Amino acid sequence: MELFKPMNNMDSNKSILKKELPVERVKVLIIGSGPAGYTAAIYASRANLNPVLYEGIQPGGQLTTTTEVDNFPGYPDGITGPAMMEDLKKQAARLGADIRFGIATSADLSSQPYKVTIDDEKIIETEALIIATGATAKYLGLESEEKYKGQGVSACATCDGFFYKGQNVAVVGGGDTAAEEATYLSGLCKKVYLIVRKPYLRASKAMQERVMKTPNIEVLFEHTTKEILGDINGVTGVLLENISKGELIKKDITGFFVAIGHQPNSDIFKPWIQTDEVGYIKTIPGTSKTNISGVFACGDVQDSHYRQAITAAGSGCMAAIDAERYIGERKF
Ligand code: NDP
Repeated sequence: MELFKPMNNMDSNKSILKKELPVERVKVLIIGSGPAGYTAAIYASRANLNPVLYEGIQPGGQLTTTTEVDNFPGYPDGITGPAMMEDLKKQAARLGADIRFGIATSADLSSQPYKVTIDDEKIIETEALIIATGATAKYLGLESEEKYKGQGVSACATCDGFFYKGQNVAVVGGGDTAAEEATYLSGLCKKVYLIVRKPYLRASKAMQERVMKTPNIEVLFEHTTKEILGDINGVTGVLLENISKGELIKKDITGFFVAIGHQPNSDIFKPWIQTDEVGYIKTIPGTSKTNISGVFACGDVQDSHYRQAITAAGSGCMAAIDAERYIGERKF
């Protein structure tokens, strides 16, 4: 289905219609520079598709906010998130990917060739589009949280939990992610405080039961985070408020895990691309294909479940292979 009428936010595409912007034509355009985008670029380059990749708002993606990455195969001694993304970028560039700074500011996927505007300044027309824009972890918005990001504050227990082995940590959130992260951390850490703002958990019944039955998880219902405490070595504690009693309490922790949800970065594509109610792009199971042929999605923008660097990289590979076959079949 290629001819889709925009359903809403035509405003975001007015720039295309109003201004005379320079136009460049490419075969494969990749938006996003996390493990999904770079892997798609590596495969598309090796298939002689001369991909152009725009890095987006956060070059390197979410992994650049992580310190050590211990679970990506191929790094026996582990690697830092930024260094791993630099490696992926170098590999894609060595194989011929054209990697550029720039943010996709609007899109027109109503017909071939698909059009994506970069920085409101230039239109890229493409035969195949690979959306690898990722998702953004939501944070509480505290200054101290920003200060200790990567130094005790994390949004991914699977990525960073290992570094808090035998220590006390806290997880904030009451959904399935928070329950899952608390359970995961309980297997590594001495004690896990689960900080929940409501008097109940929103997580599924099964996850709630698991949390409640785990002896080293203490659920602090009706508590909010006032401040994350720390020193030059990172997080040392958290200051909480008991909402019903108005009391402040301090817990000694070294890791603070935020698990209050993610926001997929799919807004500019939503007029054409089908998403779920949160905004995750729907792909045909087992493929990277979206509801528009020639438009593919990979990585966290289409994955609310696994959200790992390695699964994102795998789906980036799928997107490049799907794009190659699409172009081959259409014989542009
Ligand atoms: P959810 O939106 O389900 O839950 C977010 C949680 O964070 C809620 O408890 C919410 O509180 C809390 N929260 C939000 N903002 C704040 C804040 N500022 N301060 C404190 N707490 C806050 O997100 P999840 O990531 O947990 O889940 C997303 C989706 O993915 C869900 O559909 C979930 O079921 C699914 N999922 C499924 C899994 C599985 O099946 N194994 C694993 C992980 C996720 P409140 O309740 O008060 O709004």
